[in-house]
Amino acid sequence: MGVQRGVQYVFRAANERLRTRLEGLTYRGRQPVICECSDPDCMEVLDLTHEEYTLLRDKGHFVVLRGHDTPAVESIVESRDDYDIVDKF
Ligand SMILES: [Zn+2]
Repeated sequence: MGVQRGVQYVFRAANERLRTRLEGLTYRGRQPVICECSDPDCMEVLDLTHEEYTLLRDKGHFVVLRGHDTPAVESIVESRDDYDIVDKF
């Protein structure tokens, strides 16, 4: 019982941090985008402008956090400040 409650607090704290982060991004006119790397457990959030994300999505590209690319399944098309734009094979 005590352990379960502790886990709930961890998730609650994580959600609060995420919400605060997302609100900050929206305020700056940016769009929070979850890292699109091949790790299904990755929940890192990148902040792109809506235009940046729409443009790369229209081209069929994906966006991953720096260092999250998997050379076996994707190649880096372009490197930005703190993220890479990749093409998946
Ligand atoms: Zn990732």
